Amino acid sequence: MKELERKAILVTGGAGFLGSHLCERLLAMGHEVICLDNFFTGTRRNIEHLLDHPRFELIRHDVTMPLYIEVDEIFNFACPASPIHYQRDPVQTTKTSVHGAINMLGLAKRVKAKILQASTSEVYGDPKIHPQPEAYWGHVNPCGYRSCYDEGKRCAETLFFDYHRQHQLRIKVMRIFNTYGPGMHPNDGRVVSNFIVQALRNQPITVFGQGQQTRSFCYRDDLIEGCLRLMHDTPDSFTGPLNLGNPHEFTVLSLAELIIRMTGSRSEIVHQPLPADDPVQRCPDISLARAQLGWSPTVSLEDGLRSTIAYFEALLNGGDFQAARGLHSLVSNPVNMHVHQ
Ligand code: NAD
Ligand code: UDP
Ligand code: UDP
Repeated sequence: MKELERKAILVTGGAGFLGSHLCERLLAMGHEVICLDNFFTGTRRNIEHLLDHPRFELIRHDVTMPLYIEVDEIFNFACPASPIHYQRDPVQTTKTSVHGAINMLGLAKRVKAKILQASTSEVYGDPKIHPQPEAYWGHVNPCGYRSCYDEGKRCAETLFFDYHRQHQLRIKVMRIFNTYGPGMHPNDGRVVSNFIVQALRNQPITVFGQGQQTRSFCYRDDLIEGCLRLMHDTPDSFTGPLNLGNPHEFTVLSLAELIIRMTGSRSEIVHQPLPADDPVQRCPDISLARAQLGWSPTVSLEDGLRSTIAYFEALLNGGDFQAARGLHSLVSNPVNMHVHQ
């Protein structure tokens, strides 16, 4: 990489599931990476293999507080993503999305950095249009248990577009649909990690409601690839919002059955109450991502689950975390940190 192309890149939420993989990819591309995290749901373990890297820096910081540094690009990923975590301290969740966005946009404005927001399919709420295109404005409860996350992320999008219009900031808004893979925390609480951990322990698989609600599951490497293409390969005139996710839709019950089959588990399915406002049907329309990025997911659910199961198996058996986390890169080349220094 030519010296001129090397950028200083801030990844907020960089010690989380997706943020840590993004840090790895950016380092492998030759950039300087500043990882910021308050460790609310992220862990040092996710990035400890990067700590000695000469182009990696870790800042323990809360995005709701101002931050004065010099960077060329910002990936704003800081925010708990699992319902059990973002509902634990809902006021803090809204602050993280809204104050965090203001601070990172203020920083981007001062240093003239390009900035990407990790938004979410939750901006569509419990959608009435299916599959969901970017042009759909959504169907969101403003005062329910999920609102701190949904409305926080919606307000963050508003801020991104207003800083773009008012201050000519270069922005990219990415709406992520359910993404899973190695590196998820065993207590993350989201459906794929819950079901795999329960299956591997031969514990009951907790299907909420009848399990007829649908989701579409994207493998982490596909998602990060799309994210990087959005940030680096699209013109400044293309801001998004852009859906990134896997368009194959599954019921939650069929996911439970598939995971039981793939793990050979003795687990039984038990039904638990459906949480309030749980979206009934969710699937991305990714026509825009196909057209703008030439991107579509390459990893099937079975292949992605196979590597995620192998990761959790190694983790639960007390295996080496970094090996378990890193060995299952299905899309990008496995990162050898010593090659790219
Ligand atoms: P994650 O919980 O593993 O990562 C979030 C990271 O943000 C954690 O490291 C956490 O400690 C950090 N964080 C939280 N609040 C913070 C604060 N105030 N200051 C600094 N750091 C803070 O979740 P993830 O799946 O990696 O999600 C990353 C981003 O992608 C989030 O913004 C999430 O909303 C978005 N997203 C993820 C998905 C998905 O399916 N994985 C779907 C839609 C959107
Ligand atoms: N900010 C920051 N780092 C910077 C510049 C700004 O964290 O380098 C924060 C600061 O808290 C500020 C917010 O971003 O209040 C919004 O900045 P902006 O310039 O848009 O507005 P201000 O509040 O400064 O008028
Ligand atoms: N779910 C479930 N059992 C679990 C966890 C989740 O049945 O142990 C369901 C949940 O009700 C939702 C879907 O799986 O319908 C996806 O939940 P997740 O928390 O992963 O993400 P969401 O898309 O709801 O934000």
